[in-house]
Amino acid sequence: MNVASLTITQIRQGLETKRFSAEELTTEALRFAGAENPKTNAYLHFSANRALTAARRVDHTIMRSEDPGPLGGVPIAVKDVILTKGVRTTCGSKLLEHFVPPYDATAVIRLEAAGGVIIGKTNCDEFAMGSSNENSAFGPVRNPVAFDRVPGGSSGGSAAVVAQGTAVVALGSDTGGSIRQPASFCGVVGVTPTYGRVSRYGLTAFASSLDHIGPFSRNVSDAALTLRVIAGRDPADSTSAFAPVPDYAATLGQDVRGIKVGLPKEYFQGLASETGARIADGIEVLKKLGIEFREISLPSTEYAISCYYIICTAEASSNLARYDGVRYTERALDGNTLSEMYQNTRGEGFGAECKRRIMLGTYVLSAGYYDAYYLKAQQARALVARDFSEAFKQVDAIITPVSPFPAFKLGEKLNDPLEMYLSDIYTITGSLAGIPCMSVPCGKTAGGLPVGMQILTNHFDEAGMFRLAGAFEQAGGFTA
Ligand code: GLN
Repeated sequence: MNVASLTITQIRQGLETKRFSAEELTTEALRFAGAENPKTNAYLHFSANRALTAARRVDHTIMRSEDPGPLGGVPIAVKDVILTKGVRTTCGSKLLEHFVPPYDATAVIRLEAAGGVIIGKTNCDEFAMGSSNENSAFGPVRNPVAFDRVPGGSSGGSAAVVAQGTAVVALGSDTGGSIRQPASFCGVVGVTPTYGRVSRYGLTAFASSLDHIGPFSRNVSDAALTLRVIAGRDPADSTSAFAPVPDYAATLGQDVRGIKVGLPKEYFQGLASETGARIADGIEVLKKLGIEFREISLPSTEYAISCYYIICTAEASSNLARYDGVRYTERALDGNTLSEMYQNTRGEGFGAECKRRIMLGTYVLSAGYYDAYYLKAQQARALVARDFSEAFKQVDAIITPVSPFPAFKLGEKLNDPLEMYLSDIYTITGSLAGIPCMSVPCGKTAGGLPVGMQILTNHFDEAGMFRLAGAFEQAGGFTA
C-alpha cells in the first residue's frame, strides 16, 4: 500500500476487501511519516499508541461485520493547537513545550468516533500567529513541493503532511487564512467552514470571534467527508451552530451549469502575476462547465487588513493572558515576587510575534484608544461582512486568488512583519465575515509552485462551495 497517495474511499475499499487491516495501515503510515518527517519538520510528535489503539478498534468493528465509520482507518494529523488528551499539545510555543492536555477537542473526539486514526500533531506558527510557519518555537516547516520555501502558515505543518503524503487528511485552524493560504502554497485542498460550523471546544484560542477548525486533504471529496464528521452543534461550545449538516460529498458531481459566480474587482486589480494568470485559466475551465461569471465589488476590502489586525491582536492579548506560569505552562525559575514570575515566564516563553501582538492588542483595547481603534475596527468588520451579504444577493459564489504570490523563500519576509501581514489580504475578508471559504489547487507557476483558487459562499452554504470545487477538480482544474 502507498500511504502517500491513498484517499478515504480507497482506504474504505482496502479494509472491506481485506487488502490491509487498519492496524497494518497505521503501522505503515507511522513508519513512512517518521522516515519522511526530517525533510520538512511538519510533525512535532507522533501518537503511535493512541493511533494503534484506534486502528485496532476499527479492525474489531470490521471483524464484527459492523460499519467502522466514514473515516475508518484513515491516518489523520492534527495541528498542535488542537487539544489531544494524553498527547502533548504545544501550540508551537516554548511555553507549552511539555503541556499534556487532560481532555480532547470535540473535533478530535468526532474524528475518532468516525473511525479516524490520529497519528500525530503538526507544527505551526506559535499560537497560530503567522503566515509562514516560521514563528514556531520548534523550527520552521519546509514546503514539500520546494524545500527552500515556506509551506505557508499558520497551519503549515498540516498542509505539508497532506502534500507530502504522510497523512491522508489533517486538521488545521484558520483565523485569517491559516488553512487556505498554506493549502494554496502546498497544492492541497483546505477548507475554512462557516464560523460556528465546527465546535471550537479544545481549540486553543487565538482570536475567538475569528477562530475556525477545518480540514486539509488531497482531493475535494476527502475534505467534504471530513468536514461532515467534525461539523455540527456541540453543547460545549455555545457559538457552535444548530444548523443541520448536509452530506457534502453528495453534492460532488452535481451539475453546475447556470451557477453565478462573482469576481470582486478589488481582488484582481494589479494582479498581473503568474498567480493572476493561473486563476484566469481556472476561471476559463469553469466557464466551459456553464458557470456564469460577473464582476462584483466588495468596496470595504481596503479596510480589511487593518481591521483584522486590530481585532485579532485585541482578542489575542486577552486570550494569551492565561499563560502566566501558574497554569498550563513552563514557569521561569528566577523572580522574587508573583509579578516578576509572570513577567519572566512570559518574557522567556513567548516568541517575538506573540509579544508583538500582545502589545498591539493591549494598546488598542486601552482606555482612550478603545474607541479610536477597537470600536472602529468592529464597525469596519460589519462593513466587510455587509459587502458579502450584498454580493450574495447577486451571485451564488465568489472566486478570488488565495494569496497574491506563491510560496516564498524561507526567511524572505521574516524581518518585515508588516509585509507578512499584507500578504493576508485575500483570505482575511472571508474570515471577518465568517463565511465558508476554501482553497483548491489551480495549477502551478512555471517554476512548479502551486497556486490556490479561493471559493467563497454564503453562511452555511458549504455544500455550494464543495459542488463548485468538485466540478473544478473533475474538469481538470488542478492542472489547468
Ligand atoms: N496570517 C494570519 C495571522 O497571522 C492568519 C493566522 C491564522 O489564520 N491563524 O494572523
